[in-house]
Amino acid sequence: MNRSFPSAKAFELQAPDLNAWRAGNTGVEGVWRFASTQPGREVLVTALVHGNELCGAWALVEALEAGLRPRCGALNLAFCNLAAFDRFDPTNTDRSRFVDQDLNRLWGRMPWRGGSAPLDCEQERVLQLLPVVERADWLLDLHSMHAEGPALGLTGLMAHHADHALAWGAPGLLVADAGHAAGTRMRDHGRFGDAQDTEAVALLVECGWHGAESSRTVALDMLHRFLCASGCAQASDLPTRWRQNDLRQAPQRLQVTHAITVQPGPAPHFTKAYRTADVVARQGTVIGHDGASPVVTPYDNCVLVMPSLVHAKPGATMVRLARQE
Ligand SMILES: [Zn+2]
Repeated sequence: MNRSFPSAKAFELQAPDLNAWRAGNTGVEGVWRFASTQPGREVLVTALVHGNELCGAWALVEALEAGLRPRCGALNLAFCNLAAFDRFDPTNTDRSRFVDQDLNRLWGRMPWRGGSAPLDCEQERVLQLLPVVERADWLLDLHSMHAEGPALGLTGLMAHHADHALAWGAPGLLVADAGHAAGTRMRDHGRFGDAQDTEAVALLVECGWHGAESSRTVALDMLHRFLCASGCAQASDLPTRWRQNDLRQAPQRLQVTHAITVQPGPAPHFTKAYRTADVVARQGTVIGHDGASPVVTPYDNCVLVMPSLVHAKPGATMVRLARQE
């Protein structure tokens, strides 16, 4: 039985020193905004939505150290869950994913607002970040994964997000999915979840394994592509080493058909150490157990996306099943 299969390798990425950058310049800790006098998009790049996902934080530090300023519109850079990041421990990296709950399941309609219970750490932080996210026209949300695997772009279900991501040259696997049963992601919040609002574009990039040096390379490459596509910057404004011209092949589009959620019951497991992009050839193959019933592939050539048991409490996503388009 495989309980989990994180990388056995030691973290290559160090935690960046954010002391010079954590105050921000907006009155919201960790949030920077630089405005041009020219009209243009309000662009937002987010990192550390999960406190143990360091690659995006490195990309933002590089952008801040480079003194980047937008040619038009405004550039916002946000270190999102600093309280979780502050707990980062290279020997126990999952502990710093969040403090009280996952910051990336609290968006959308926010049924937790307005109750009598005191807000927890991540709920407080979402309310601080909310005006920043709701002001943005374009969002690039930089994440990494607990297991090794290829970089993924998560586009949500509306085609215009995936069309933009393809045009930017987003990672090799572009995954259209509805998110998580446990709650709405930042990338699906408000305008980003409105099919009519095709001016609002969001892409969540899983840049690779949390500890891989290559995840920082992917984050910087995506930042370069995103800033140039948005009009915020031109290539000549940016360090040339950010851009990886032959990092990847033509993107493959995947449509998530099932998000398998952990159920109450015995501990969930997979039948083998599956990884993202593994293809299960035969319909009806048992790939694991969700706690209540076997997890069975619903069609031939089923692609597995982010199989994970690290945070496998009931309600958490265990694996997504996808078709190749
Ligand atoms: Zn993440």
